[in-house]
Amino acid sequence: MHHTPNSVLVVGSVAFDDLEMPSGSFKDVLGGAATYSSLAASLLAPVRLVGVVGADFAESHISMLGAHGVDTTGLERASGKTFRWHGRYSSDLASRESLDTQLNVFADFRPKIPAAHRASEILLLGNIHPALQLEVLEQVERPKLVISDTMNFWISGEPELLGKVLAKVDLLVINDEEARQLSGEHNLLKAAREIHKRGPRRLIIKRGEHGALLFEEGSVFFVPAFPLESVLDPTGAGDTFAGGLVGYLAKTGDVSHASVRRAMFYASAAASFCVEGIGTERLVQATRGDLGVRIEAFGAMVDYGGSLALPH
Ligand code: AMP
Repeated sequence: MHHTPNSVLVVGSVAFDDLEMPSGSFKDVLGGAATYSSLAASLLAPVRLVGVVGADFAESHISMLGAHGVDTTGLERASGKTFRWHGRYSSDLASRESLDTQLNVFADFRPKIPAAHRASEILLLGNIHPALQLEVLEQVERPKLVISDTMNFWISGEPELLGKVLAKVDLLVINDEEARQLSGEHNLLKAAREIHKRGPRRLIIKRGEHGALLFEEGSVFFVPAFPLESVLDPTGAGDTFAGGLVGYLAKTGDVSHASVRRAMFYASAAASFCVEGIGTERLVQATRGDLGVRIEAFGAMVDYGGSLALPH
């Protein structure tokens, strides 16, 4: 029987980024967390994108998303300018500073989920104001799985609203610094225990080139980052990770613990394409076939060939 995949609803920022990288400066690069997540998820499953762009957003970007199987019915076009972010990276790409953030049309954004998208099975709440994340949760029918991201700005600025979001989230996907800030614990195992108490039954802590950890019911699972010779731009890698994750869960229709473990390899593989190019350029070029090849190499990389039982 032909299997119809579940669809993914992605809500978040669509942006133009100015990027100052060790390899050069790049202006007006297509970015935004929801763009990265949608492109990654679309390698595996149908995606519905909800966000806002301005009058300056090229029609060609919208048709590119459409060609990737991203339904942009919920991508509003407002008068004004698209959200803009300007970042500068250190020479080893290990750190970056935000030089400028212009909310533009994002400042007055109120997410409106099209009626046809309210029954999406998998919901990815990107890093936006927790009040908006709550508005999205009110508009959707109970999804199979609610996945959310957040950032330091909301953790310190809107702790109460964020608390309400966390109570409704099944799987929180954040980086290690955010986990420490949210929990007040430096040790990640202790941080995970604290975060579980706030709501999310499942937690993924992303550690960039050091991989990602999944915490659920006292168990810990680890997936490495895929080793690469050439890393050009880590912008959006975390969002791409979340996109690969939800794409796999939607495609398989299986949101069990074992499926989330497998999904983490897809997440990490998708993120490896993201960092190979400036902005979304490499991710845009990546095909399902490319993903298949990388997943196979990934599987081989972590295959220990049998049992790890203590030899006697
Ligand atoms: P990441 O590297 O995962 O932090 O994602 C980078 C992307 O997030 C860039 O494409 C930015 O346009 C977008 N971004 C940066 N700051 C914000 C913000 N305050 N709210 C929403 N999106 C943002």
